Amino acid sequence: MGSNLRDLMFSMNFLALVSLSALSISFIASILVYQLGIPVKAADYVRLNLFVTGCVALPTAIIAALHAFETRSYQRRLEALAWTDELTGLLNRRFFLRGAHEECHRMLGKPQTAAVAIIDLDLFKEVNDLFGHAAGDRVLKTVAQIAQSELRSPFDKLGRWGGEEFVVLLSDVTPEDARSFCDRLRSRIETALIETGKHQVRITASFGFSMVGAGADISSAIEAADRALYEAKRLGRNRVEMGDYVHAEVQETVDFKKRQRVLKNQVPAYDDAADGIRTISLEQASRTRRHARRL
Ligand code: GH3
Ligand code: MG
Ligand code: MG
Repeated sequence: MGSNLRDLMFSMNFLALVSLSALSISFIASILVYQLGIPVKAADYVRLNLFVTGCVALPTAIIAALHAFETRSYQRRLEALAWTDELTGLLNRRFFLRGAHEECHRMLGKPQTAAVAIIDLDLFKEVNDLFGHAAGDRVLKTVAQIAQSELRSPFDKLGRWGGEEFVVLLSDVTPEDARSFCDRLRSRIETALIETGKHQVRITASFGFSMVGAGADISSAIEAADRALYEAKRLGRNRVEMGDYVHAEVQETVDFKKRQRVLKNQVPAYDDAADGIRTISLEQASRTRRHARRL
């Protein structure tokens, strides 16, 4: 359900609640009048109740509901302002860190690793110097859109780390997956021809990434990614470098997943030479079957 619809439902509930309360008050007042023995005709009671509902309760409820709706959407706008970077619309640093931290906790108890990558645009200052600050802004927005379109999982997170730097958290990936994600994005940025009004701009980006384990401290993983990024710059830019594992359990999980992958692709087979059972790859097994069929 969209947030606007949710706000509307909330205000409608509010409207119903206020109307009902006003009606009850009016009803109780009528009973009191009756109990006090004030001589009023039954039809007048009904008229009085209708008057209170029509002239007092309903307008009050509508005003209150509208007010509740506006407060809600204002609150939502403030929340959005607090967590987004104004230029790119991505998560800002603080909220990225919060989301990444939650993701590390979500992975607890699962044999999963995530990766965190820092992306820094190469020689971006020259874009500003040559084409102007507005063109630089356009480039930042486009790179943000490209990166956003490359995310694959609802648990992936993308943020603006600051200036011309972006940060991404890739959930449930192996080091190989993370590297191929970074390489794909690097290549998409490199080949994009960015329209900035008067000029078309090309830009490249350098990447540093590191692996994160369940419940890990995200800050030390980001520091490792930052060191890898520095290395990528030193080695000539427009490239991807991986940082050291900062948590022992990352290595364990990576090894575990590799073993699982290998086992998944293995089947038992009879080995004539050794006169016993050994495991062979699925591909080898199907090759042997094809060969046996031909004989
Ligand atoms: P390197 O390849 O070593 O990263 O070189 P670089 O030029 O990208 O790095 P440097 O740190 O020298 O320059 C970053 C520039 O990014 C400087 C700053 O003016 C620019 N910048 C930071 N934030 C913004 C922004 O919001 N909009 C624009 N247009 N420029 C920005
Ligand atoms: Mg930088
Ligand atoms: Mg840069």
